[in-house]
Amino acid sequence: MPGTFDKVAIVGGGTAGWLTAGLLAARRPDLAITLIEAPDIATIGVGEGTWPTMRETLRTLGIPETEFLRECDASFKQGSRFDGWVDGSERDSYLHPFTAPPASQTGQVLAAFRDGDETFAQAMSPQADVCARDLAPRQRAMPDYAGTLNYGYHLDAGKFAELLKRHATTRLGVTHISDRVDKVLGPQGSSIEGLLLAKTGRLEADFFIDCTGMAALLIGEHCGSGWVDRSDVSFNDRALAVQVPVEAGSPIASQTVGTAHEAGWLWDIALPTRRGIGCVYSSRFIDDQRAAELLDAYIAEHLPHADRSQLAPRKLAFPTGHREKFWVGNCLAIGMSAGFIEPLEASAIVMIELSCRMLAENFPERPETAALHAEKFNERFLYRWDRIVEFLKLHYVLSRRSEPYWLAQREAASIPPRLAAQLELWRDAPPSNWDFPQQDEIFSAASQQYVLYGMGFDLPASLARAPTAQGAVAMREKTRALLAALPSNRDYLDRMNNIAANPAAHGELAGS
Ligand SMILES: Cc1cc2nc3c(=O)[nH]c(=O)nc-3n(C[C@H](O)[C@H](O)[C@H](O)COP(=O)(O)OP(=O)(O)OC[C@H]3O[C@@H](n4cnc5c(N)ncnc54)[C@H](O)[C@@H]3O)c2cc1C
Repeated sequence: MPGTFDKVAIVGGGTAGWLTAGLLAARRPDLAITLIEAPDIATIGVGEGTWPTMRETLRTLGIPETEFLRECDASFKQGSRFDGWVDGSERDSYLHPFTAPPASQTGQVLAAFRDGDETFAQAMSPQADVCARDLAPRQRAMPDYAGTLNYGYHLDAGKFAELLKRHATTRLGVTHISDRVDKVLGPQGSSIEGLLLAKTGRLEADFFIDCTGMAALLIGEHCGSGWVDRSDVSFNDRALAVQVPVEAGSPIASQTVGTAHEAGWLWDIALPTRRGIGCVYSSRFIDDQRAAELLDAYIAEHLPHADRSQLAPRKLAFPTGHREKFWVGNCLAIGMSAGFIEPLEASAIVMIELSCRMLAENFPERPETAALHAEKFNERFLYRWDRIVEFLKLHYVLSRRSEPYWLAQREAASIPPRLAAQLELWRDAPPSNWDFPQQDEIFSAASQQYVLYGMGFDLPASLARAPTAQGAVAMREKTRALLAALPSNRDYLDRMNNIAANPAAHGELAGS
């Protein structure tokens, strides 16, 4: 018997639209999926850092890792480094790596950090030293998507959307219509009956996915799902983004670098051919001109050979918040249409992946269950947005910087009550699964620990009594072994690209 919602229309051809189309088609080949994309409405074109979840996503899509890395000018991302967030001094830097601390003996491992002279990330994982040396998280001989250390990617968002589109349309059977949706059909505030396209005319489907980005044409305008503004907690609402070409052979950093400034922070993402650099800021505290100066000064300091006169930063204004409901009737919002809380820690694409996974594994098969699926989805994702808001805020509330923006970040009224309570509890016991009990928490207890102790939060007093770990020695040995075994990002990616361009050289390179 055909399912109730077996004709699916996805509106929008950005990262959200094409990821959703591909993932749904790969997991539910029985559905007829059409993606409609307005040729005259640009995608947001940023979104260059992913979570490790992207490996499973690409595997599910059936895209070989080498093809992905090559086609998207991609590199490995092993975490995020935060420079200048605590007090802005020279030595102020900590890492939030993707590899979690050892699961066993956490108290003892934390005690090793207490007793040693290493940073928290160094004491917990070899990844800190691997990142400091710009090394890759895997060796070339390993199977696709396997890693010695946990990793995601840095990528070119435009090339990524192109790859996803090609793959979804040629290998996964997704139909692509290049046309603009002029009208959503059906009574406003209720289920969608169809779409009116500018050239194609009426298009009918059973289930509609809104990937129209900030326009939120279906979920907002038609379904009337309200907007929950979170700018009282998360102040940043603007970014200036630029791409800076790099010299051949230059090192490729293993992590996103986020450098704090007087009213926000700058991102720095290294790809094989360029650095993606952006200044994120709050328009309440500085204007565009000041943000442009901060961006220019960063580039002058960190990329002294760049021809800054040739760079034309793009200005982006973004909302801070999310929908009250993501799924209303037969419409689900995925991507920017569902919400966005500033780029810190790259939480947007992973939310797209998690939304697709939940939809594919909980697809409504009968009219009487659709509302129940919607309720479950809305509940799970409201939980996720709350946790994102709190985790991002954690990066600001522990700062000791004294500019007005940073002081305002620490005002009690801007701190979500659950986060304030957690900070009290973490004086007694470190963040654990008791605090973050859900399956697929985006920011696990380990992530909270890396930020908390990276920023100098005191270890719980009870740990003063914990014995020093023997694990610390084992960790140092593991780190030494990995430093000797892993190639640099640059070597790995250059060799891979050479081999792809010149397969005849494979034997020679593999042997070298
Ligand atoms: C400054 C900044 C930095 C970011 N960095 C990161 C990061 O590092 N990591 C991360 O995970 N995320 C990041 N994000 C978020 C990320 O860019 C987005 O989540 C991601 O690109 C998905 O966007 P989207 O597909 O929802 O929207 P868009 O890219 O805006 O796509 C919208 C699509 O809808 C189509 N459309 C709109 N209206 C219509 C219509 N009427 N008819 C037909 N089609 C229509 C458009 O043509 C377009 O194809 C960042 C965001 C910003 C603002």
